[in-house]
Amino acid sequence: MKIDLHTHTTASDGALTPAELIEKAIQRGVGVLAITDHDVVTAPDEPGGREHGLTLIPGIEWSTCWRRMEIHIIGLGVDPRDAGLRQGVAGQQRIRRRRAGRMAAKLEKLGVDEPLAGAERQAGHSAPGRPHFARHMLETGFVRDIGQAFRKYLAAGKPAWCRSEWPSMREVIDWTHAAGGLAVLAHPADYGLTRTRLSVLGADFRDAGGDAMEVVSGRQEPGVTAMLAALCRKMDLAASCGSDYHRTGPGCAEPGECGPLPPACRPVWELQPAFRGT
Ligand code: MN
Ligand code: MN
Ligand code: MN
Repeated sequence: MKIDLHTHTTASDGALTPAELIEKAIQRGVGVLAITDHDVVTAPDEPGGREHGLTLIPGIEWSTCWRRMEIHIIGLGVDPRDAGLRQGVAGQQRIRRRRAGRMAAKLEKLGVDEPLAGAERQAGHSAPGRPHFARHMLETGFVRDIGQAFRKYLAAGKPAWCRSEWPSMREVIDWTHAAGGLAVLAHPADYGLTRTRLSVLGADFRDAGGDAMEVVSGRQEPGVTAMLAALCRKMDLAASCGSDYHRTGPGCAEPGECGPLPPACRPVWELQPAFRGT
């Protein structure tokens, strides 16, 4: 059975609605699926899926700040009705909207047409983020592709980039735990850290109360998986796996395309059996 504990929908920057994602996951033989949109808990309209043997885990991908870097933490199995969690989500959305306003002002000066309205159209119900600005820039012909939008304008240190005032890792881990969830360090290999710095991040995450780290994130080189598995064991963290699915495209993992975990790892679903659908 395939387990995928990191996916996105139109509630943040994914291409599929929750119902479409669930359908695709079922078609691809996924048995356990966590929807983990950016800074929001996505509650699908209909429970759906259960009759096909799919167990749905309510989740979230928090943005946090660690040593002036943006680090992502997945909350798995959170209760979306929890008051503290809802306050946390509202705070994240405020931070996103503030940042979107500042970013739009910079992009307007750079010549982008109606950046805020355009990004908001792309974002739908959620607060616009950089991928939404990038899509708007592509559709208005300001850039050739999404990659160029980031490389030239939106990436850290580029002319339209703005720092976000994200909360600390400890804060979002506390919100996650209070809402009954487990905290997972997302895609540790994607932050461009040296091995030494990555070990410091892992230790800080564990000391802040973190439960697990993603040892497998989408289509990952086997060497990276082995390195993360070793770090995970050294930190005495459990291990998670997720596709980080946003949309179907070249180089992108499909739902369920994220496994298996190396046998030496203790899977996160041993801490919370519901994550395995048991
Ligand atoms: Mn994303
Ligand atoms: Mn992420
Ligand atoms: Mn993600």
